[in-house]
Amino acid sequence: MKVKMNIRIGRKKNKHYEAFTSEGVHHVTIPGIMRIHMRRDKNGNNMVWINGTDLLLVNKVAADFIDVFIEKVWESNSMGMASPAMIEKEVVKEMGKIYPGTLDDRLSNDFNTVYNTLQSVAAGACPVHDLKLGVQEINLATWTAPPRIDLAVTYKCDNNCYFCYAGGSRNVKELSTDQWKKVIDHLWKIGVPQIVFTGGEAACRKDLVELGR
Ligand code: SF4
Repeated sequence: MKVKMNIRIGRKKNKHYEAFTSEGVHHVTIPGIMRIHMRRDKNGNNMVWINGTDLLLVNKVAADFIDVFIEKVWESNSMGMASPAMIEKEVVKEMGKIYPGTLDDRLSNDFNTVYNTLQSVAAGACPVHDLKLGVQEINLATWTAPPRIDLAVTYKCDNNCYFCYAGGSRNVKELSTDQWKKVIDHLWKIGVPQIVFTGGEAACRKDLVELGR
């Protein structure tokens, strides 16, 4: 099940839209508040994962707000000036270029609706019961990539649990660090927002931290 969030304003595609809203996975972490991953695909699915657990399906306008927001947080961080008010101002300015003729107040209200929704879900609010968002069945046939992939980076383990599903020999040939990095880069490129390192015991690999970066 996906939760649906719709924001409607008149839309005009232009170069600003292209600059900020390409297909793929976009992400940002707001320390202490939330981590969001947003994926737009060629089938028109706009999906937002909040803290890796909740999934919202958003319409194109809401997706544009989130994309521009992500972009502006990254820009602000790189310039060392990430105050919430400044980011909101930048988002409104940029969205005004994507949707010319829309009043700043309207853009500001809509941005706050989108942001507060994400923040509330991150804080534990139920999107359906608390926020009254609609629900929609997931149509996996239209997805271009899975939402998560588990990578068994090793079968080694210091334990020997009788119920272990890994079973068999633990000394099997493993991919090298560079080979795993290529796999991880590829998964990101095709739009997989999350990976989980598993095994065996993934921590048996000395390069686990490096792979996680
Ligand atoms: S991989 Fe997990 S289940 Fe298997 S032996 Fe190690 S700790 Fe036990």
